[in-house]
Amino acid sequence: LTLAACSGGGAGTGDSTTSASTGTGGDGTAYRIGVAMPTQTSERWIADGDAVKSQLEDLGYTVDLQYGNDDIPTQAQQIDQMITNGANLLIIAAIDGTALASQLQTAADNGIKVIAYDRLIRDSANVDFYVTFDNFEVGVQQATSLLVGLGILNEDGSQGTATGPFNIELFAGSPDDNNAGFFFNGAMSILQPLIDDGTLVVKSGQTDFDTVAILRWQQETAQKRMEDLLTSTYSDGSKVDGVLSPYDGLSRGIITALSNAGYPATIADGFPIVTGQDAEIASVKLINDNVQFSTIFKDTRKLAAQAVTAADDFLKGTEPEANDTTTYDNGVKVVPSYLLKSDIVYADTIQSLLIDSGYWTADEVAAGV
Ligand code: BGC
Repeated sequence: LTLAACSGGGAGTGDSTTSASTGTGGDGTAYRIGVAMPTQTSERWIADGDAVKSQLEDLGYTVDLQYGNDDIPTQAQQIDQMITNGANLLIIAAIDGTALASQLQTAADNGIKVIAYDRLIRDSANVDFYVTFDNFEVGVQQATSLLVGLGILNEDGSQGTATGPFNIELFAGSPDDNNAGFFFNGAMSILQPLIDDGTLVVKSGQTDFDTVAILRWQQETAQKRMEDLLTSTYSDGSKVDGVLSPYDGLSRGIITALSNAGYPATIADGFPIVTGQDAEIASVKLINDNVQFSTIFKDTRKLAAQAVTAADDFLKGTEPEANDTTTYDNGVKVVPSYLLKSDIVYADTIQSLLIDSGYWTADEVAAGV
């Protein structure tokens, strides 16, 4: 990915958009970009915020980065404030994808372009572009890794030797996050046929998205639901073989519940297969330690670069390049999107995917922080 470079010549002195230096308007004043991120409780959003901010600043933009503390009114207020402070463009990772209509209307009325970051903003015509990963494919990868962990598939995708039946339980993400449904549907596209033929058994019977979804992606809520499942469904001595978890924070809650219930310490000894997402360092350590089985790596540096490119294009008066113009219907329009690819991380791909790429160091993986 290449970021638009300064076209050089007459930096800050030009009087037309074409001769303005990168990051500044025609009068040489730095453009302001408001960046609204959902929460600091998950490290991926801190990495996203840092990467977007520094890459925009490298291009000469002034950045107003705010975290919404997973609270909808807080995020709405922050965006109002960004507009009041003179934002020329907004990059938003929404807490609730449907809750920002009035802010977006104000933005549109002021000619402020809006880029939805990672999470689609729904029910508004005032979303100009969407940068994200292929979210359905993320779900496919999560389910695939669950099958690899159970031995039904091999890591290279070939058929494994295990035939089941295996007891599994399903978790989904926050119902107000448009991604959560994509992850779940992607995963179920792989799991449903095996549930139908009896290879996989969802012993609790809980397979509806609404039943298995965890509001705001809360780790404690996932832990509690897993504890409840163990009590309601597995106190007859039967064993959980695998858990579809869509996010590392939830995975750690699920793992805590399973550990507290007396499951063995490692997968090699019979600990259930638990999936994840985001390659959070605490989970990468657990994968390295043979406790969590897998996660999905979404390189936030690349997503940030894509958002920055799109922002830079808009502020220079050109349309950013989309690679998907059919998938992301937000209820009012199909938002032109740029989708990035994600990778499955197993214990034996931590080195190649996460350490070699500089995402985490070997020391961080060993320490889990
Ligand atoms: C993101 C995931 C993340 C989840 C919880 C989703 O919108 O796409 O990467 O795990 O939010 O923060």
